[in-house]
Amino acid sequence: MNKKIRVRFPPSPTGNLHIGNARTALFNYLFCRHHEGTFVFRIEDTDFARSTEAFMQNEIDAMNWLQIHWDEGIQRGGEYAPYKQSERLPIYRQYIDQLLKEGKAYRCFCSSEQIEQDRNETVEGAMVGKYSGRCRHLSRQETESNLERQVPFVIRYQLPENTQDIVIQDLIRGKMVFTSSNLDDFILVRSDGIPTYNFAVTIDDATMNITHVIRGEDHLFGNTPRQILLYRDLGFEIPAFAHLPMILGSDKTKLSKRHGAFAVTDYKEMGFLPDAIVNYMALLGWSPKSNEEVFSMEEMIERFDLSHVNVSPAVFDFEKLKWFNQQHMKRKSTAYLIELEAPFMKDRANVKKWAEEHQDSIEGVFESLRKHLVTLQDFPEYIEQFHQYEHLGFKEHREEIMDSLPLLEAFLAGLDTVPNWNTEEISHYIQSTGQELQIKGKNLYHPLRIAITNEEQGPDLPVIIVVMGKQAVKNRLHRWCEIIRSTKYPAEGEKDGN
Ligand code: GLU
Repeated sequence: MNKKIRVRFPPSPTGNLHIGNARTALFNYLFCRHHEGTFVFRIEDTDFARSTEAFMQNEIDAMNWLQIHWDEGIQRGGEYAPYKQSERLPIYRQYIDQLLKEGKAYRCFCSSEQIEQDRNETVEGAMVGKYSGRCRHLSRQETESNLERQVPFVIRYQLPENTQDIVIQDLIRGKMVFTSSNLDDFILVRSDGIPTYNFAVTIDDATMNITHVIRGEDHLFGNTPRQILLYRDLGFEIPAFAHLPMILGSDKTKLSKRHGAFAVTDYKEMGFLPDAIVNYMALLGWSPKSNEEVFSMEEMIERFDLSHVNVSPAVFDFEKLKWFNQQHMKRKSTAYLIELEAPFMKDRANVKKWAEEHQDSIEGVFESLRKHLVTLQDFPEYIEQFHQYEHLGFKEHREEIMDSLPLLEAFLAGLDTVPNWNTEEISHYIQSTGQELQIKGKNLYHPLRIAITNEEQGPDLPVIIVVMGKQAVKNRLHRWCEIIRSTKYPAEGEKDGN
């Protein structure tokens, strides 16, 4: 490729940036960076009723968080500014005037009832289903009189008289041929004077010298053929197209929240790392042609190729996304992750207090827990859970620890001698208690774990002990010792039930 590659991502700010759309941004980004091209981030805000500043900001925030950097566009500016459609209306007007002058577009004054009626008409038993082209043939006088009377109108594209083939050389799907006879005179400008998506996007892509249009398959049939006709009629060079496969839910139905598919910023709030999201999104359609799955952005840029994008739909699996998060958490340093933990710690009073009072222990505790963490949320959840052990009852697992009184007593007795309350020293203390009593392994750890947590298994015991705090651990052990003593060696009176 000798021409410098220019790609674009033009979401509409009518909702938060969703995972499906973010994948489109990512594929553009990987392709563009692989070829050292330019990434343009535009905003398609001509649906005034549904577009909001807040949604636009969400899209910008999500792109920044995912580290999909744009070279030109919204908030950055560039040679082809403005990058927001609502600020480009005079540009569209210029091209509409050209099409009207050249007889490639016309004003249509039909009422919606009239259009509906034409559509429902049947020819040889089949419903026409499209606009009849009624206003194509209005005389100049009729048009002028309608304009004078201020009859509302739209501007329609005038399809070529003779049927034409419309060829798409899709970089993923290969050559596809459409025919113009399946289309109708589609609307370019609505009655409020605002251009439609198909018209505005064509003008934007052409005037911004976009070389590759990479977007979802949902645009392939309805939009791309229409846009190609416009490119031709306006004398623009037609860019290359690549239509990305659909993303379905695990039950092969349309992707939705039910499948764990959310807005990008929701994943951030759920404690996912951007690295995991981009890694997983890339694999929704792209096959790296190796068995490896876990990649950094740089590794993906290095390997990405549109010819390795599948045609068949990708299936979104929330569990798999969690697995990717775990893998990326493993790749990151403790210091980095602890920094990211801050917003997740602050909403839980217990956890916040503990963190403030134990600045020195956080790193050690995190180290011990990191292999259990799937998302950043799990760390404060563990801390909270460990604090709750203090309030557990003493009914469960009684049988299991009835023979462990010597261990619990010895452990309790020496706890004050542990010089520093951290995981290493607690771990050391558990072992030395075991040595003294000549018990080890399961016989040592299991009764202690049951006594302290009421659970058969869980994260390393020393880390639980460190987080619970000395007094809480002592209280539980002390109470257990009392219970065992009174059950196993009841005083004579108790035995009689007195
Ligand atoms: N605003 C359109 C969308 O979000 C852009 C489609 C395109 O890339 O042309 O679907």
